[in-house]
Order: sequence, then structure tokens, then C-alpha cells
Amino acid sequence: SKSWTMVKHFAGAPKPEDFKLIEKELPPLQEGEILLESVFLSVDPYMRPYSRRIMKEGDVMIGSQVARIIESKNSAFAVGGYYVGNCGWTTHFISNGKGLHPLLSEWPGSLPRSLALGTVGMPGVTAYFGLLEICNPKEGDVVLVNSAAGAVGSVVGQIAKIKGCKVVGSAGSDDKIQYLKEIGFDEAFNYKTVSSLEEALKKASPEGYDCYFENVGGKFADAALPQMKDFGRIAVCGAISMYNDAVPPSGPYIQPTLLFKQLRMEGFLVTRWSDKYQEGQKQLLKWVLEGKVKYHEHITKGFENMPAGFIGMLSGENTGKAIIQV
Ligand code: NDP
Repeated sequence: SKSWTMVKHFAGAPKPEDFKLIEKELPPLQEGEILLESVFLSVDPYMRPYSRRIMKEGDVMIGSQVARIIESKNSAFAVGGYYVGNCGWTTHFISNGKGLHPLLSEWPGSLPRSLALGTVGMPGVTAYFGLLEICNPKEGDVVLVNSAAGAVGSVVGQIAKIKGCKVVGSAGSDDKIQYLKEIGFDEAFNYKTVSSLEEALKKASPEGYDCYFENVGGKFADAALPQMKDFGRIAVCGAISMYNDAVPPSGPYIQPTLLFKQLRMEGFLVTRWSDKYQEGQKQLLKWVLEGKVKYHEHITKGFENMPAGFIGMLSGENTGKAIIQV
């Protein structure tokens, strides 16, 4: 089995030399165990902040995969079955089945299984519950989402359209802006090239915003918060612009804006909805099959290229979900 480890804690943006490929022989299976082979692996932003919170130097990188059973000594798990596991950046692993989740039974053979790591997986479910339960969008509301061309953001925008909202998105390249228009965003701008975030936000929605799905934080939030309408709802999903900072930047001073506009701003982790995760997945799968939610994947081929895929995702190379194909 091959695995990628984190040699030392990341300082600033992760670099290729922070990762090391190791190889080890797996022991023969015991009764009750299964051997799985990763087919698709996920690279996600959370890996950057969580590496610091839960990993030691030398540990295998955390992460999930779609894996196929290639050997089984457990009658509940047949060879050939596909499961989503959370077993780190590794090509092969042994499991007793605990913590493995089968793909939805209604998953059509024609649909890429990698979507179980993206639009119909954790990022999709994050978008689904984060938007619907925290932003609570109503028909006619104006919804703002940043990192909008990414795995979570692209689903947030499309669900908001399904709910009859006006949707404004921001992303970091003109190609991504084009993509956002294609999947139904009403307004989209490249936050890297606009002369002023405030003006771009005002132009996209002069009347302000009812809902703000926050993936980025930092300067973007400073510009967006004052443009919330009264009683606006903000779902704080992520703060990717700050993940590489050793020391948080000073400010913003958001309390007066929250107070006088009576805003609700709430952080969340997708694990809050663990008990109804499948409900979210089923709805997303239905929308995908109906063509109401479109998906795009940024696939990096080759397990050996996994660090490059991760680093590329953090720097914005992906449109849609970043996936590694072994
Ligand atoms: P994406 O597919 O959106 O990929 C990351 C993107 O972040 C890049 O493509 C890049 O796009 C953008 N980005 C990188 N650096 C910056 C920066 N300095 N400023 C603005 N944008 C930047 O990732 P996900 O959809 O998987 O995740 C999006 C957010 O959701 C992250 O903050 C993540 O941590 C969070 N998240 C939270 C969860 C929860 O349970 N709360 C669960 C899942 C994700 P661009 O070209 O636009 O810059």
C-alpha cells in the first residue's frame, strides 16, 4: 500500500516537500476484515487547518476516498462493492467495515462514483444543509456565495436558484465566471480583477443581500457584511483566505454591523446533520439526475500527483470538485 504522509507541519501554503510517499506491505486479512483499493480520493480545504489540529508530523494525510473491495473475509462486504471511506491518502487499506458508507442504492451505473466525494457527497451535503437550514433562503431573496465555482459554492448557487433566489457569486478566474453563468448564476465577478470588492458587490445587487454563504472570510467578508439587508442570514462555512495564516489578521470589526442590521451569523460543521446526511444526498442525486444541479470535476490523474492536486486546489486550479484518480 502506498500512502502520502505530512513530513512537517505546513508553514504558509503547503509545498511539495511537505509530503512524503511511503510504501508498506499490508498483513494478510483476518476473519471479519476486508481489503479495499482507493479509486478516487478527495482533496479538500479542511485538510489545511485540520492538519494542524489533529495530525502529527509523519502521519498519513487525512482524507476520504471512494474505494472498491478487492478481498473480503467479512460476509457483509462483497468483493467489487464501492464504499466511501475516511482512511487518508492511501491506495489500499484494511477495514472491518466500520465507518465505511456504501454508495446510495439508487446510484445509476452511468454516474461517476467520484461524485460521492463532491456534489452528492460531503461538499454537496454541506451546501444543502448550510444553505437551507442556516441561510433559510426564500423565493426572491438575493443570495451571495464566494468560492462559488468550487465544490460547495457551485452547489449552493444552484440550490438557491432551485429555491427561486437571485444568486451572486465570486470566483478567482474569468473561466470560472463563465462557468458560473453557464450553471445559472445571475451575477458573477472575478474577485481578483475587480478594482473594488464593495463596488462589485453593489453592482451585482444594488439592493443588498438577504443571504451570504461564506467560504472565504477576510477582506471579502469586510466588504460583504455592510451590504447585508436588515435581518440577513450568514452561514459561515469556511474561511479559506485565512487557512494559511499563522496569526489571524487583525480585524474585521464586525460587531456594529451585526448589531445594527440585526444579522444572524452562524458557524457550522456539516457533521451537525450526520443523522440526515442521506436525506441530503438523496435530494442532491435526484437533482443531478434531473439535470437541475450540474456538476463539474477537476480530476488529477495518478496517486503520485496527490500533493500537487491538493496544492493546486488550495491555489484555485479547480473548477468544481477537486478529485484525485488513482
Ligand atoms: P473549493 O472547491 O471551493 O476549492 C477551494 C477554492 O478556494 C479554490 O478553488 C479557490 O478558488 C478558492 N480560494 C483559495 N484561496 C482563496 C483566497 N485567498 N481567497 C478566496 N478564495 C480562495 O473547495 P470546497 O468547495 O471544498 O470548500 C469551500 C469552502 O467550504 C472552504 O472554506 C472549506 O473549508 C469549506 N467547507 C466547510 C465545511 C463545513 O462543514 N463547514 C465542509 C466542506 C467545506 P478561486 O479561484 O475562486 O480563488
